[in-house]
Amino acid sequence: MATDADILTAARTQLTQYLRRKGMRRTPERIAILDRLFAGDRHLQADELRALLDSDGYHLSLSTVYSTLKVLVEAGLARMHRFGGEQPAQYERVVPDSPAGHYHLVCTACGRISEVTDSSLSLRQITRRHYSSFEPAYCMVYVYGTCYRCLKRMRREQRRRLDSSGKTRTPHSPSKPK
Ligand SMILES: [Zn+2]
Ligand SMILES: [Zn+2]
Repeated sequence: MATDADILTAARTQLTQYLRRKGMRRTPERIAILDRLFAGDRHLQADELRALLDSDGYHLSLSTVYSTLKVLVEAGLARMHRFGGEQPAQYERVVPDSPAGHYHLVCTACGRISEVTDSSLSLRQITRRHYSSFEPAYCMVYVYGTCYRCLKRMRREQRRRLDSSGKTRTPHSPSKPK
């Protein structure tokens, strides 16, 4: 099992090689953005990432963050998600040579995203067919629905509605003595 430090080292090497191949500079800002994205397995929006980098002492424009994220996506080190609705794009790290896939449970009520890791969720499992003129690289799976917290809140609201409609009926109840 690779540690986070091993993962980061591998990712930095991969980025350095990619930048060299493309004739791009290995700037401290690019490395800082990579480091932040790889500091956890969270999904981050570009402005969240910028705020984190700000606290690290890197004061970058949002467009610098976006263009670097684009480079990371092209280098195969990050993945961009659009979970639908009005939500801005979210980015997550791609662990090099990581065998287990994960899918995303997306709550359509609050936008919360949970990840489910599934070792059977490999590209090979999902795309069982062979494409003669297409080479699959990766796949992303989203399952849309309602999260546990929203379900709880909805049930509570429904109960409250039932309770209040019960209260307004009570005075008219024929069984009550006048
Ligand atoms: Zn929710
Ligand atoms: Zn994810």
